[in-house]
Amino acid sequence: MVDVTALRSRVAGPVLTPADGGFAEEVAAWSAGHVHTPDVAVGVTSVDDVAEAILFARGNGLTVRVQGTGHGALFDITDGMLILTRRLDTLSVDPSTRIATVGAGVRWGAVTAAAAEHRLAPITGSSTTVGVVGYLTGGGLGPLARSHGFSSDYVRGFTAVTSDGTIVHANSEEHIDLYWALRGGKGGLAIITEVRLELVELATMYAGSLLFAEEHIEPALRAWAAYTASADASVTTSAAILRLPDLPFIPEPIRGRTLLSLRFAYPGDPVDGERFAAPLRSAAPVYLDALAEIPASAVATIHGDPTEPSQSWTLGRMLTGIDQDAITAFLAHAGSGRQFPFVASEFRHLGNRTAVDVPGGSAVGGRSGAFTLSLIGAPDPALAAVQPGAAAALLADIAPWVSPEVTINFASSIETEEEFAAGWPKDIFDRLATVRGEYDPSNLFAYGPQRR
Ligand SMILES: Cc1cc2nc3c(=O)[nH]c(=O)nc-3n(C[C@H](O)[C@H](O)[C@H](O)COP(=O)(O)OP(=O)(O)OC[C@H]3O[C@@H](n4cnc5c(N)ncnc54)[C@H](O)[C@@H]3O)c2cc1C
Repeated sequence: MVDVTALRSRVAGPVLTPADGGFAEEVAAWSAGHVHTPDVAVGVTSVDDVAEAILFARGNGLTVRVQGTGHGALFDITDGMLILTRRLDTLSVDPSTRIATVGAGVRWGAVTAAAAEHRLAPITGSSTTVGVVGYLTGGGLGPLARSHGFSSDYVRGFTAVTSDGTIVHANSEEHIDLYWALRGGKGGLAIITEVRLELVELATMYAGSLLFAEEHIEPALRAWAAYTASADASVTTSAAILRLPDLPFIPEPIRGRTLLSLRFAYPGDPVDGERFAAPLRSAAPVYLDALAEIPASAVATIHGDPTEPSQSWTLGRMLTGIDQDAITAFLAHAGSGRQFPFVASEFRHLGNRTAVDVPGGSAVGGRSGAFTLSLIGAPDPALAAVQPGAAAALLADIAPWVSPEVTINFASSIETEEEFAAGWPKDIFDRLATVRGEYDPSNLFAYGPQRR
């Protein structure tokens, strides 16, 4: 048991050990399957709290990890110090510079709402309950990926605390290596307390989803795959086969059904958007049409990701391309009439801006990927045992299209150092190791699957 008396006198936020009341709530992760029991939990309220916590951890031989929301929890943390950032919840938008200054505990939904007041928008992922900072440290691919690139391309600076307790500003002029690394390098570098993010001028977009009934999955998915070969560079689409459970919280028209959802986002004139979407609308009879001009702040409605904590096994990969043979192989596992133990089996179309790095470079992995492939396990303990095997069988059959490169936010259930390293091309991973050595020479920060 670590004596935390001295730390309690130095930080404003709660300092808890497993014996203290409120500990379980403090460390709870969004990924409900994980139960954390670190030696010490520190609910930081300021950059100074973070610095004090780090100095205490160093002095007491504690490994340090950080959690914003726990959407990215990989395993149960059972040792060391866990820094919780949810109280770092400051958020301001300067419309004259289009810069949002965002505390490390803020989720995307708050930023989209604050930006919308000025007809601005952040480049987010599909879910706005995800934490801004944790997401950005992995790059970030969302519904506007092709028109706008990785979300971390919009970071203009970080405030962070390094492993010796020093508060630093990392941007294009100061701590340039750290700035490069924090935009996509994911963990083991520093504890971020604030990020400055460029917003884009975007009040509305032509976006949403087209749902196709089970009997029309094959023609609609094949039409989507053909469509991606010549899609407009500013159109981002994705395709997901959804196997929705027969549960009361699922809206009646889709409850208990297997459907194909084609998602579409075009950040321009809705007349052009409707024209660009026409080939998808005519791919097969549309069961539910939820594609229209929407406020940019309604970005989360495009994919309709779950907003409540859940537990599931997931797999993520990138593909070098998709053709009709790939779709044939995919449908043999995930198509209509199959027993496939995943609530969502999803492709996202990448390219255009995702392939182009920022001036000066950043540590994002996966710029060469043409598509992502994600399998989201049904949150059913009875199916958990069969999900890895079912995913492996699909991967074996689509191996010709699978890229060796992935991007870390989509790498999903990482268990080994090798799976973590696959999140980056080797040159970027090696440079990240150099920057980690410079900023955390004693390996205070655990990252990736490191359990210690
Ligand atoms: C429902 C759902 C939808 C998703 N959609 C997308 C998507 O569309 N696009 C996409 O790219 N990703 C997506 N993801 C993946 C998500 O971006 C990652 O899981 C991300 O790590 C979550 O960040 P978090 O802060 O919410 O989670 P956390 O679990 O709190 O953090 C994850 C990791 O981020 C780092 N981190 C967090 N806070 C800090 C900090 N203050 N300083 C330094 N490092 C920090 C740490 O390495 C930490 O382990 C999704 C995940 C879920 C569960």
